[in-house]
Amino acid sequence: MREFDYIVVGSGIAGLTFALKVASHGRVAIVTKRSLSEANTYYAQGGIAAVTKPTDSYDLHVADTLRAGSGLCRESVVQTIVEEGPSRVQELIDLGMEFTRDDTISPDGERFYSLGKEGGHSKRRVLHAKDATGREVMRALLASIERAPNISVFEDHMAIDLITLRKLGQTGDNSCVGAYVLNRVTGEVETFAAPVTMLATGGCGKVYLYTTNPDIATGDGVAMAYRAGVSVANMEFIQFHPTCLYHPRAKSFLVSEALRGEGAILRDLAGQSFMDEVHPLASLAPRDIVARAIDSVMKRSGADHVVLDITHKPAIFIMDRFPNIYSTCREFGIDITKEPIPVVPAAHYQCGGVVADVDGRTELSGLFAVGEVASTGLHGANRLASNSLLEGLVCAHRAARSVLELDPEFGNVEIPDWQSGDAIDPDELVVVSHNWDEIRRCMWDYVGIVRTNKRLLRARKRIENLREEIRQYYWDFNVTADLLELRNIAQVAELIINGALQRPESRGLHYNLDCPGHDDSWSQRDTVLCRKRSAQAIR
Ligand SMILES: Cc1cc2nc3c(=O)[nH]c(=O)nc-3n(C[C@H](O)[C@H](O)[C@H](O)COP(=O)(O)OP(=O)(O)OC[C@H]3O[C@@H](n4cnc5c(N)ncnc54)[C@H](O)[C@@H]3O)c2cc1C
Repeated sequence: MREFDYIVVGSGIAGLTFALKVASHGRVAIVTKRSLSEANTYYAQGGIAAVTKPTDSYDLHVADTLRAGSGLCRESVVQTIVEEGPSRVQELIDLGMEFTRDDTISPDGERFYSLGKEGGHSKRRVLHAKDATGREVMRALLASIERAPNISVFEDHMAIDLITLRKLGQTGDNSCVGAYVLNRVTGEVETFAAPVTMLATGGCGKVYLYTTNPDIATGDGVAMAYRAGVSVANMEFIQFHPTCLYHPRAKSFLVSEALRGEGAILRDLAGQSFMDEVHPLASLAPRDIVARAIDSVMKRSGADHVVLDITHKPAIFIMDRFPNIYSTCREFGIDITKEPIPVVPAAHYQCGGVVADVDGRTELSGLFAVGEVASTGLHGANRLASNSLLEGLVCAHRAARSVLELDPEFGNVEIPDWQSGDAIDPDELVVVSHNWDEIRRCMWDYVGIVRTNKRLLRARKRIENLREEIRQYYWDFNVTADLLELRNIAQVAELIINGALQRPESRGLHYNLDCPGHDDSWSQRDTVLCRKRSAQAIR
């Protein structure tokens, strides 16, 4: 058994920030299922939203967030995160993060930071490092992690399940005491124990056939927390990014909203722009509206994509402002300075998640959740662009502070080793890959941008059958990372469907043709799903 003071599951902005802040107070294990930098954070393009200019204000940022969230944000949480944002961004800068600057000079002789504008924002307020902000965030954080004391990094280690006192058969107050973790290199399951476990496992884009997310985004944290009896909320609100590059060889490449912020126009394949008639903000309308409009154009015309056109801007500007998008599109034979970019919507961001407060506390003592895995009330029914990196920074800071105040101690807990029972090595891996494909296709076709009750019920039936098959496979065979991820995407798919079926209205990202309007009695009501809190046998 490996014992620590803090186990951090996940190495994106949330996990790394938390780890850095507690490292001088105890032994930290960062458990991450691939390499340290393989996280959604690394792929973030647009930037971090924060109020940094006198022409902007907290009130405006709060109002924009609430408007996007469509009546479901928790206003006090929004206020806290927006107001603490600038200090946390300054800390990142102090760690060495280099945001892009513009050509104007401040009174103290420094160049101002360049601020991007994205959908739903009434002001330019998105700090960015060209169009590869996440890469620069990770560079700065990982450099600090290398210098920090007390941090042990476990790459290629995948958390399987949380260990709780209840699971260990103890009565009385329940608490999380660690996690079982698959060492992907040796195939062994190791026991990690600590009085504090931080879930920072990111989102679940891979539940859908088309996604902007990298392969790590399989909703593991939500699935683990749910299996441990912790409440999960608002999973029906999956944000589909309107503009993912459409190309047979491009895997999950996002074409940032910042392009539309700089004037790029969405057009159908006949060259007609179609957003002017949909929303006053046209191509810069909130993401749910743009994604639905594209979906509708594609369904009406039978086309398999639309295009995003920025060719009217000077080539030199495009290449300087969007070097990453320019060069990636070039690799696929598209010169974005001369021709429009083929795009489709794709699953992008999980607005719901493990119920947590703004300090990362969940309802299970010893378990914290921060970042995309958590549902704090910041995003409500729809996330405002570039608010998620901000949330990761602020909530990780607050969680570290509250954990250090608690100064939790580890009692005398005996944790048994992982039991494999009679499990043998899997015989037919095709079952796993087939079920992966089936779940992702089913979710795309039936639980996508536009839903109906009939499609949701059909999806529920399919996923129930698949979950039964996966359960059988899980108990019979030794675990592999693919099987564990499959089990998690199936669990999360079920939570998304059940959340969607429980909400008898359309709001924000959840759009159901059978109940197309808002139901006022559901504003400020979360869809909370919780598994029966019964004792569970260790595997
Ligand atoms: C293409 C793209 C562009 C984006 N652009 C922006 C943007 O401009 N601005 C913005 O604010 N947001 C953006 N987002 C969203 C934002 O990047 C994420 O919401 C944010 O980075 C999430 O951070 P996180 O730390 O919560 O999770 P992540 O960065 O996803 O990190 C999760 C970590 O958990 C690990 N993990 C997962 N499961 C397990 C397990 N079972 N065991 C061990 N480790 C595990 C992963 O390997 C990873 O290290 C973008 C997202 C994408 C995909």
